[in-house]
Amino acid sequence: MRLYHPAAFDFTTTVPSYWEASAEPLGRTTQALEGAYTADVAVIGGGYAGLHAALQLTLAHGLKVCVLEAGDIGWGASGRNGGFCCPGSTKLSYGQLIKRFGIEETRRFFDAQRAAVDFVGEFLAVNGIDADRTGDGELQLAHSEAAIRELKDEQVFLRDTFGAHSTFLTREELAERGNDSETSHAGLQSDITFGLHPLKYVRGLARVAIDAGVTVFSNSEVMDWSSDAGQHTLRTKHGQVTAKTVLVASNGYTDETLPQAVGGRLLPALTRIIVTRPISDNELKAQGWTRTDPTYDTLNLLHYFRLLPGNRFMFGGRGGTDASPEGMQAIQHTLRADFDRFFPRLAHVETEYSWGGLVCMTSTRLPFAGPIDGMDNVFGAFGWHGNGVAMASYAANRLADVMAGSVRHEDALPAMMRSLPGRFVLPFLRVPYLKLAYLGYGAADRWR
Ligand SMILES: Cc1cc2nc3c(=O)[nH]c(=O)nc-3n(C[C@H](O)[C@H](O)[C@H](O)COP(=O)(O)OP(=O)(O)OC[C@H]3O[C@@H](n4cnc5c(N)ncnc54)[C@H](O)[C@@H]3O)c2cc1C
Repeated sequence: MRLYHPAAFDFTTTVPSYWEASAEPLGRTTQALEGAYTADVAVIGGGYAGLHAALQLTLAHGLKVCVLEAGDIGWGASGRNGGFCCPGSTKLSYGQLIKRFGIEETRRFFDAQRAAVDFVGEFLAVNGIDADRTGDGELQLAHSEAAIRELKDEQVFLRDTFGAHSTFLTREELAERGNDSETSHAGLQSDITFGLHPLKYVRGLARVAIDAGVTVFSNSEVMDWSSDAGQHTLRTKHGQVTAKTVLVASNGYTDETLPQAVGGRLLPALTRIIVTRPISDNELKAQGWTRTDPTYDTLNLLHYFRLLPGNRFMFGGRGGTDASPEGMQAIQHTLRADFDRFFPRLAHVETEYSWGGLVCMTSTRLPFAGPIDGMDNVFGAFGWHGNGVAMASYAANRLADVMAGSVRHEDALPAMMRSLPGRFVLPFLRVPYLKLAYLGYGAADRWR
């Protein structure tokens, strides 16, 4: 059981993304599970989280691990995201985190986010994965005068609390350096984030995992789960895996009943991306946008965008709540209209690719990597709140050590990532809640 139109969960369809059109194939043969298979650990989900956990469990702990992926490797968010390798895997502000978890754990969380970005950068470098790394730091653009004040306050807060370095840029300075957009009033440049090609990353990761001995079953959706005498049995259409330990790493694509203990705790949300044709240097100069840093704005219903290698523009934003083909088409028009408003001198540049996907939020608005309460040897890693390129990778790697028993949970991850999020009140109303939240955020954005 899933929350959106079945089109969002058609694991047999290849996502029509620019990434699919520009990544080399996996280069390893993966097959659907057939018959009975036994492993120490079975992982549900072949994205960054599932593959990183599987790799670490195999390499560092010598366990027999298999990954069950419903589509092709990276079919979910990992193969289709915006490629911001960045912090931000919670929807709580640092002020809220400090109130709830104290300053020490909040500092630990901030450091973990920075470590997560470095972890991915090093993983790519060490394993020789060319994932088109671009940009140096992340640019946040103030959409209004009020947001300029917020950015200034944020800069001081980040410096005083975490010792973080960032640079405030006026509208004129932004234009001078090649970040001229109609809608931005000022900007804050941090030094943490970089951009990457998400599908090249996840395919590179899968190659490393397979070469290390992880068994990867693609086109193998887990449809049923039973547990008996300390063993879990996961059934797919043509086979079954029996394992003592299971990791649920299906994030926004999780079936509400797999397992029941996770049902009602996650809130998948749609987001959508368009990519233009290659833009000439002259066209970019005319717009005044020539830099490649990953960029987003200060709206609650934010836009995220970056200039890709080869000078295509990628522009993403909220994906509404209707995942049917018609619903997605309507959102694409809205997104394109937003792009034209941001970059009027590029309004003539055609959109060549457009696709959507699901990010995953939780009732606590915090990510989770840890044991699933009430189940023996079952773990979960999910809820990256639209920012999982770095954190899903890092947290799953850390969680693998916890699963193998070599590191204590509290030593591996900060407190705010260790508690299984509670169930939403009246979970069947989650999509209506989201609709209401979008209305509220939209109204707030108009006044802020
Ligand atoms: C359009 C878009 C843009 C985004 N942009 C960014 C960005 O710029 N930066 C950023 O940090 N994050 C971004 N995100 C979020 C980021 O992609 C995710 O947080 C991250 O990929 C999560 O990785 P994961 O491995 O946890 O989940 P996923 O990559 O979603 O993997 C879960 C997998 O589980 C599989 N699955 C589900 N159910 C089953 C089952 N029953 N049996 C077997 N397999 C199953 C799915 O097919 C899927 O492949 C974006 C997401 C989207 C959709």
